[in-house]
Amino acid sequence: MYPFNFEYHKASSVSEAISLLNQHDGAKVLAGGHSLIPAMKLRLSDPGVLIDIGKIDDLHGINASKGAVTIGGLTTHSDLAASIVVPIGLSETAGTVGDQQVRNRGTIGGSVVHADPAADLPTMLVALRASFHISGPTGNRTVSAEDFFTGMFETDLEDGEILTAVEVADEQSGTGSAYSKLFNPASGYAMVGVAAVVTVASGKCTEASVVLGGLTPSVMVASSVADSLVGVKLEETSIAAAAEAVQNDLGSDVLGDIHASADYRRAMAPVYVRRAVAAAVERAG
Ligand SMILES: Cc1cc2nc3c(=O)[nH]c(=O)nc-3n(C[C@H](O)[C@H](O)[C@H](O)COP(=O)(O)OP(=O)(O)OC[C@H]3O[C@@H](n4cnc5c(N)ncnc54)[C@H](O)[C@@H]3O)c2cc1C
Repeated sequence: MYPFNFEYHKASSVSEAISLLNQHDGAKVLAGGHSLIPAMKLRLSDPGVLIDIGKIDDLHGINASKGAVTIGGLTTHSDLAASIVVPIGLSETAGTVGDQQVRNRGTIGGSVVHADPAADLPTMLVALRASFHISGPTGNRTVSAEDFFTGMFETDLEDGEILTAVEVADEQSGTGSAYSKLFNPASGYAMVGVAAVVTVASGKCTEASVVLGGLTPSVMVASSVADSLVGVKLEETSIAAAAEAVQNDLGSDVLGDIHASADYRRAMAPVYVRRAVAAAVERAG
């Protein structure tokens, strides 16, 4: 299908993009175009005006400094997957997105703003307790990844705002992160995606963050799993027992569709929690 007609503008700076967005009612930012253009072609989205931000230098690049890693909003999944400065769980997650073509075009900013319930990066960014930097007509602000995702395809981003960067902490020794997912074989999207970040000292877990995507309308923090891990000696049996606690976190709004029923996703959740936690523990050393 062809999209409805639209106007195209190219912005050369963040301030120009914000100004263009605010001049055109309903305008949308175009990043990698790998979610927006398909939605326009299916006529699920009709923004009328597109503001291309692809050539804004300030939105590109990954910089590590003073214990933090700042990832420009236009960083592609391929660049994240190849990065050695971002937490290993984040590069691993980016490497599982779609196929090479999707990873070469799709961006971290586009993925988090689109907020598809089956997307991979939101799950890992909430587990890593990332912060999102946002610029808009009234200035700049920062919001935690957990507060950013407010529902299915819904975020805290206001009209006229641009996500400029994502910030995560450096991965310290003793901490490991990992991502494990049940792929939709056609698209690569997560039917169950689990991100785990675990800190281990003297063989015991001192901190854990476990987050699931693909099952519920928005990313889901598995606090029962994390609570079951903290203070425990992490070995096969204790990890498997903690993984079962995910059933307490899931609640009643588990999604089912033609790819996988809600019951199947629910049954698979502890399997992928166990795999993600075990891999994170191994990386934590
Ligand atoms: C065949 C296929 C397979 C895929 N498989 C997967 C998968 O396995 N896992 C997965 O997670 N994703 C998958 N995707 C989605 C892919 O990761 C997209 O690239 C991503 O969701 C959107 O990024 P984008 O840069 O293409 O954004 P765009 O499509 O350009 O934009 C998406 C939305 O975000 C807004 N936006 C973009 N950037 C910004 C910004 N900086 N500030 C404010 N608003 C912004 C746009 O206005 C639009 O509303 C797949 C896509 C395709 C086509």
